[in-house]
Amino acid sequence: MTDTNTPANVEDAPKRSLNFIQEIVEEDNRTGKWGGKVHTRFPPEPNGYLHIGHAKSICLNFGLAKKYGGKCNLRFDDTNPVKEEQEYIDAIIEDVRWLGFDWDGEPLYASSYFEQMYEWSVQLIKDGKAYVCDLPLEKVRELRGSLKTPGKNSPFRDRPVDESVDLFEKMRKGDFPDGSKTLRAKIDMTHANMNLRDPVMYRILHATHPRTGSDWCVYPMYDWAHGLEDSIEGITHSICTLEFEDHRPLYDWFLNALGLHHPQQIEFARLELTHTLMSKRKLLELVQDNTVTGWDDPRMPTLRGMRRRGYPAESIRDLCDKVGVAKMHSTVEFALLEHCVRNTLNKTAPRFMGVLNPLKVVIENYPENESEELDAINNPENPSAGTRKVPFSREIYIERDDFMEDPPRKFFRLGIGREVRLRYAYFVTCTEAIKDETGEVVELRCTYDPATRGGDAPDGRKVKGTIHWVAANHAIPAGIRLYDHLFDKENPNDAPDGKDYRVNLSDNSLTVLADAMVEPALKGTAPGFHLQFERTGYFCVDLDTTPEKLFFSQTVSLKDAWAKMKKKDK
Ligand code: ATP
Ligand code: MG
Repeated sequence: MTDTNTPANVEDAPKRSLNFIQEIVEEDNRTGKWGGKVHTRFPPEPNGYLHIGHAKSICLNFGLAKKYGGKCNLRFDDTNPVKEEQEYIDAIIEDVRWLGFDWDGEPLYASSYFEQMYEWSVQLIKDGKAYVCDLPLEKVRELRGSLKTPGKNSPFRDRPVDESVDLFEKMRKGDFPDGSKTLRAKIDMTHANMNLRDPVMYRILHATHPRTGSDWCVYPMYDWAHGLEDSIEGITHSICTLEFEDHRPLYDWFLNALGLHHPQQIEFARLELTHTLMSKRKLLELVQDNTVTGWDDPRMPTLRGMRRRGYPAESIRDLCDKVGVAKMHSTVEFALLEHCVRNTLNKTAPRFMGVLNPLKVVIENYPENESEELDAINNPENPSAGTRKVPFSREIYIERDDFMEDPPRKFFRLGIGREVRLRYAYFVTCTEAIKDETGEVVELRCTYDPATRGGDAPDGRKVKGTIHWVAANHAIPAGIRLYDHLFDKENPNDAPDGKDYRVNLSDNSLTVLADAMVEPALKGTAPGFHLQFERTGYFCVDLDTTPEKLFFSQTVSLKDAWAKMKKKDK
């Protein structure tokens, strides 16, 4: 065994903590490949809202620029007007900023480069490296062959250059209907990599683009456009997900054919989370068929949804940091994300008392028509958050679950004849449970010990349980929404033959509690306010809140499933 304390190893240590992309960047900086420049980009297609997978790409690209004193562009890959909308552009800009990243100047758009791309394609035609093909798209696909069989040349492959130039100009002018012609690169129909079998560069689409309107009716395909966008912007490291590995030779081919600035494409494994779908197409389906209330439904894996649910941006960045950057596919436990959320909120979220399923309690020896104020700690993790006053009176609400008529020995909450501590208040003993005609307990009668105010019993008597409560006359009613995974299955795509991912939708992803009662101190809190209801979980004031009624979304429970899993692993 080598001695791990040698100075050489100590020096090596920080290097080993780099991810493989940082290693590439540092090597490039060392060799001067880009003259010390680091320029990345985050290139979303504005055909949906950003999700947690995009967050990984954002953290990676903006993170590299930050770490190496470089730049990162926000660039919209807006090359398919059929699916793209201004709504998505606006939302993406806002969400990237919300996640904590910014860029110089205005965001950039692939559509700004359409004219330049067009000129370059004419150049390729003239160089004999591209041609107009009259085959319909199905036929193009058919002649492409398969992984096992080579493709076949298009009968239009060798048409004269001038004819292709002329036809391409007419395509641009709008002389031909959708799908009737394409512009294709002339590479090799027998290439082992199918992406190089004369790929389509342009298709005809008579569609209105959110930015260029009806200026164009030919639109560039991703593989053709993307490298050009990177090149125009002077990108050094073009980082994308693994499914583009097979496209890299084409990315390289186009840039070499044109002799342009040639960024290096680097692929990494996309982020996958258990119980979560990351396909924008499927997320759009859930929105369109009203399975969820919108892109910002708190159960959605979108940044909007997570933000509304109360996940702080910091915890999402923390997750991206924790999972790292790899070349190998893996699925991350959703519980790890929740662990990150809890870690952030534990430090920052003020504590309150809220009763989700109220059960009325009358404290018989407490004077009627009186009340008092008790001191409560705002955040035990953060003493500078101070204290607040909580009103107490003869009638209070406690959680239904905190009482059992016939409790087992280990139930350390209320039962008849049992004593518990009311958080920040007094010891109370239950004397009687009052039932309605159906036998349901509707009210408890208790007595309290005035000598235990805000502390212990002077006689040294102990209680095992502490429960939360709110004063009935002071509490404010609230609606509470509890959430669970949208999909029961760890892999939502794992559906039986003939069925789709929707069979895995959970029936329990949303529970609405209409009659909760919360501390009066929460009055007037605005949407986005994070808090912890003691003993219950972290919550966030929801967008649906009005001056008349507060609504809370549950962010995450208090139980750390991730920590438990880790313990089991050991
Ligand atoms: P689609 O192409 O199906 O519309 P997409 O998820 O690839 O969806 P883009 O808007 O093209 O969406 O993604 C923008 C960037 O985010 C791309 O560079 C893409 O590689 C990256 N990205 C998308 N999903 C993930 C993910 N799950 N993990 C990491 N990066 C992702
Ligand atoms: Mg994509």
